[in-house]
Amino acid sequence: MQPSYRSRNIRHEIITLLQQSGPLSRADLARRIGIARSTITGAVGALIDEGLVEEMETVPVAGRGRPATTIALAQGAGAAVGIDFGFRHVRGVVADLQHNILAIEERELGADYEFDAGIEAAFDIIDRLSQRANMSTERLLGVGIGLPCPTSNEGVTTRSAMIPKWSGRNVLQLFSERLPMPFVVENESRLAARGESVWGAAKGVENFIYLKLHSGVGGAVVAGGHFISGQNGGAGELGHISLDPQGPICRCGNRGCLEVYAGIPAVLAQARPVHADITLARLMTLYGQGDPAVTRIMADTARRVAQALSMLCNTLNPELVLIGGSLAGAGERFIGIVQDEMKTMALELNRAPRMERGALGRNASALGGVARVFELFAGRS
Ligand SMILES: [Zn+2]
Repeated sequence: MQPSYRSRNIRHEIITLLQQSGPLSRADLARRIGIARSTITGAVGALIDEGLVEEMETVPVAGRGRPATTIALAQGAGAAVGIDFGFRHVRGVVADLQHNILAIEERELGADYEFDAGIEAAFDIIDRLSQRANMSTERLLGVGIGLPCPTSNEGVTTRSAMIPKWSGRNVLQLFSERLPMPFVVENESRLAARGESVWGAAKGVENFIYLKLHSGVGGAVVAGGHFISGQNGGAGELGHISLDPQGPICRCGNRGCLEVYAGIPAVLAQARPVHADITLARLMTLYGQGDPAVTRIMADTARRVAQALSMLCNTLNPELVLIGGSLAGAGERFIGIVQDEMKTMALELNRAPRMERGALGRNASALGGVARVFELFAGRS
């Protein structure tokens, strides 16, 4: 007989529920998952044997009744590492199954760093994080890796001219050959969305769009609780939605992509005729001060963002649009213009999703890597 959907996922459901709720009795676990007590007893027994959960005695209130036995995730049962390859840095986070962040490490490598330098920095960070978490690398549940480029579902970076140094590299194989533990590789924007859904501003939200406005523009689409990766891993490349077929050439080879209007380099370039040496920090200050040129540039940028989001919202009707990346620092005023512009471009039904800034900042992708490992681990039968 085929195992039922429930029986295949009991392990996942127990671990997930204990992560979310803390210690629970076997009876509570059975009730909340909706299966027989005897089935829970067997599954919990197997998890205890693996050292992943443990029994705890709960002292009765005011001395009445018998001590209750609850089940909790074992202290130090396991931890996962998330690694984020940014444009100038490699950043890593280690967190345990109870979602405590144990340590963070970062290596600054400079803009456009070499592929090999990035990989070596990542191994160094994994080593250092496992030391700081007081956990040998063998005890890590795995490592979730976020790459700054389109990545196939098999962990191979797409051959493209966008980031030549990363083109066609089998990152998953490279890591798996060096360290004997599970690795998972995904586009860093999708991992950031995963991080926000577990730790951040999209917690509990099943339909949302994540838009990262940074040096590059990326994103992720979450529909019905599923992180959409698509046939080739290319879903969520929001920065390369072409908004104007006559527009400027993009690094992807097409014209008029959202990134050529809303990527940080593009925004700064527009300001340079007026503010020659402008930096992102200066741009934000001038925006706050109401500088006329910067105000106009940011309004134009917001209009382009609204144009892309209107298409996406008419396609997906999300509950939430989460704006990440450093340009999200433009804040409420910028988001307000995006929302106003969407009113003229999306159907009434789709034009007013909640719109917020991401909550995790620079840790979003690395935390998403951790979340991805936990998900795979919990689902393993
Ligand atoms: Zn493009």
